[in-house]
Amino acid sequence: MSLTVVLHEPQDLVNIAGVVRAMANMGLLRLTVVDPAEFDPWRITGIAHRTDHIVDRIRRADTLDEALADATYVVGTSARARTAQRNYRRPRELAATMQRRSREGSVALVFGREDRGLSNEALDRCHDVLVIPTDPEHSSLNLAQAVLLISYELFLAGGVEPEPLPRGKRSLGPATAAELEEMYGALKQGLTRIEFFKARKPESVMRVLRTVFGRTGLDAHEARLVRSIGYELRNWADRQIDK
Ligand code: SAH
Repeated sequence: MSLTVVLHEPQDLVNIAGVVRAMANMGLLRLTVVDPAEFDPWRITGIAHRTDHIVDRIRRADTLDEALADATYVVGTSARARTAQRNYRRPRELAATMQRRSREGSVALVFGREDRGLSNEALDRCHDVLVIPTDPEHSSLNLAQAVLLISYELFLAGGVEPEPLPRGKRSLGPATAAELEEMYGALKQGLTRIEFFKARKPESVMRVLRTVFGRTGLDAHEARLVRSIGYELRNWADRQIDK
């Protein structure tokens, strides 16, 4: 259905223009900018010529959650591995999967700001995290060049994958980011109420669960089931108090 490039808090308009140009080169059309430091469509098309078909449709969002609400598969990007374990992947290895998932639902490909990359909270929203291989001493690419390299892999992988497999009639399709956030919220609430966390850090436990569920690609029905488990844990804890 769609693949959207999401720029989280881009600081430099010239980089936005560079991204637009790379997208035009590789046939990508949808761009969302989240809380950009500067934004001016006229200047962007002045730098990236013949890109009105992309620039006219740029979506602006105030928060990353807003930008990702409808996404069914969220792929982040990072120049280096951080402390927390995540589902790190190489662009070439993931490109065909991204193409396939963009036919089944909405894929968001998220890039971080020039000076600090994506925050831990932003990476928590991502099912997989792409790392472009580089010289280890110089792993941080220019934002637009990172977009170009990943778009290029997507371009090469395009058309290779067969049509999506048939799905059961009852299948609701992949869960959206908003549905998943609700699920994680319910699960965290439930686990808190049964005092699961104790000495464990809730953020770390939730991060591991996100990594695990991120690998599975939950459909909407499955996400609802897990969400209900969270709610039922909470209800169970409430009943213990009433007794
Ligand atoms: N100093 C930041 C680098 C930010 S570069 C840091 O250490 O994280 C800006 C953005 O370009 C990154 O957030 C990421 O989206 C993308 N990027 C840069 N280098 C990359 C690489 N090697 N692999 C994947 N994405 C990269």
